[in-house]
Amino acid sequence: MAFDFAQTALAWFDQHGRKHLPWQQDITAYSVWVSEIMLQQTQVSTVIPYYERFMQSFPTVTALAEAPQEDVLHHWTGLGYYARARNLHKAAQIIATEHNGEFPTDFEDVLALPGIGRSTAGAILSIAEHQIHAILDGNVKRVLTRFFAVEGWTGSKTVENQLWEFADQLTPPQRIADYTQVMMDLGATVCTRSKPRCEECPLQVECLAFASGRQAELPHKKPQKTIPTKYTTVLIPMLYDRVLMTKRPDEGIWGGLWWFEGEFTLEQQALPVELAEENAEFEVADQLHKVNAVESLPEFKHTFSHFHLHIQPVIIYLAEAQAGRFAKDAQGRVADASPNYVATNLQQWVDYQQPADIGLCKPAITIFNQLQHR
Ligand code: SF4
Repeated sequence: MAFDFAQTALAWFDQHGRKHLPWQQDITAYSVWVSEIMLQQTQVSTVIPYYERFMQSFPTVTALAEAPQEDVLHHWTGLGYYARARNLHKAAQIIATEHNGEFPTDFEDVLALPGIGRSTAGAILSIAEHQIHAILDGNVKRVLTRFFAVEGWTGSKTVENQLWEFADQLTPPQRIADYTQVMMDLGATVCTRSKPRCEECPLQVECLAFASGRQAELPHKKPQKTIPTKYTTVLIPMLYDRVLMTKRPDEGIWGGLWWFEGEFTLEQQALPVELAEENAEFEVADQLHKVNAVESLPEFKHTFSHFHLHIQPVIIYLAEAQAGRFAKDAQGRVADASPNYVATNLQQWVDYQQPADIGLCKPAITIFNQLQHR
């Protein structure tokens, strides 16, 4: 009898598939969508607590659409790839205005939403609406590449088109939601990137990579390109237990998140000499503050997809420009939650012991840890 890929996979799903993930309960297009976006480039175990907090705060598309972007980004802090959160928020607002707050069920309408590609649209509509659509996320790409021993890098258009053809042909007309799920499960738990568990795999009998012992070689790696190294010296003005942070523009790296001022350059940066001078001053919002001291924290590296960034944090301990502007409690901590000389939406003094509910990138969290443990 000919090998039936979908039925074999589904029979395995009935016994071994994952059925208790938080987004598999009370399934809605919204819950599948949020989970799918979070799961892009992120493992299930990392996603679960983020997903639960997110759904608690934004239980519906409308709740998400109405939330301030700051709040959405805050819920994403630490997950990385923040464009995902900004797109999720933008898409929720589009659904609220153009689709009456109901997640669209038409494939093209879903595909038109920011941050949703063909595979994600297919996953949402097959799982939540039982529509027949194939998916081809990173996990499924790996399974199909190995099963059919597909040559070439899966990111190239030619290979991707070939994989979509396979994915379309294999997608069954029945039990589509389970089939979508089992393809993800097989990729995530059996046909893993390193050391696939072929002995447990239902597809083994027909798998070409297994037959030829090429599991480790396939899928072929991306052709190597070396990425540049950049440097930034991050100046952290500090007044008592507050550090001055600046909001990044919405577009580009860490868009909409809070960071410190400082350029990214190809050369290592020296500390501005003026800061080392006696009687040095530092300007914040037209106020000149005396620099009491300067302290470098340990340098660390953060890697983006297209460059490495060496980050050298430097604290600039400031004196108050005018006495008494910051009210303090008995322990000498700044009492007011938002002491602002800097009354703009783009700069604020943040308590480094307990950063407020603002969106922070991973390196900002590293710097807060350094500040707390120095
Ligand atoms: S047999 Fe091994 S390589 Fe082939 S699909 Fe299964 S786990 Fe992947």
